[in-house]
Amino acid sequence: MNVVPLFQDKKEANNLWIETIQWWSDPTIKIRFVESGDDYWFIMGADSKKPETNQSLFKVLKKSENYERFKNGHGGEAYLRLGVYSQKFKNDVKDDAVCNCGHIKEDHDSEDDDECYYEDCNCKKFESFQLNLYPRKKKKTVTDIKFVQEDQVKDDPLTWNCLYINKYKKKEQ
Ligand SMILES: [Zn+2]
Ligand SMILES: [Zn+2]
Repeated sequence: MNVVPLFQDKKEANNLWIETIQWWSDPTIKIRFVESGDDYWFIMGADSKKPETNQSLFKVLKKSENYERFKNGHGGEAYLRLGVYSQKFKNDVKDDAVCNCGHIKEDHDSEDDDECYYEDCNCKKFESFQLNLYPRKKKKTVTDIKFVQEDQVKDDPLTWNCLYINKYKKKEQ
């Protein structure tokens, strides 16, 4: 399965890859999911061949179906890639492009108004989210993946450092 942290733009993803992630040595990459209520912390770190530019990364995200699917299906190994979502409208795509409503562009009104023709569909405007991977052909193989509850983070330096700096310390101040 793939782990694809998402970024706002291509440049941000490319820079992170070039400056940090490409120097990570695959067997040392750790990915941690710390569950905290409806949210989870995605935390990632590794030993680097260029320690001076090394950093660990985290994001706080809402648990989702994708999250559960990954949790149950990863089997101890995943490819790490970086992704950028782009939002496309009717004029940006071909006739067979799929709208977020699940129906293709041709099923949407072709005049100014792009309402979907399917009767049971509430879609009023063609919009399509496309996920692109950057840099295109690069990936890392991660074999150290763990899911932990928030009260277990003390046992793991990567998760403890991250939550301490970004959550507990801030509350103390
Ligand atoms: Zn639609
Ligand atoms: Zn539709």
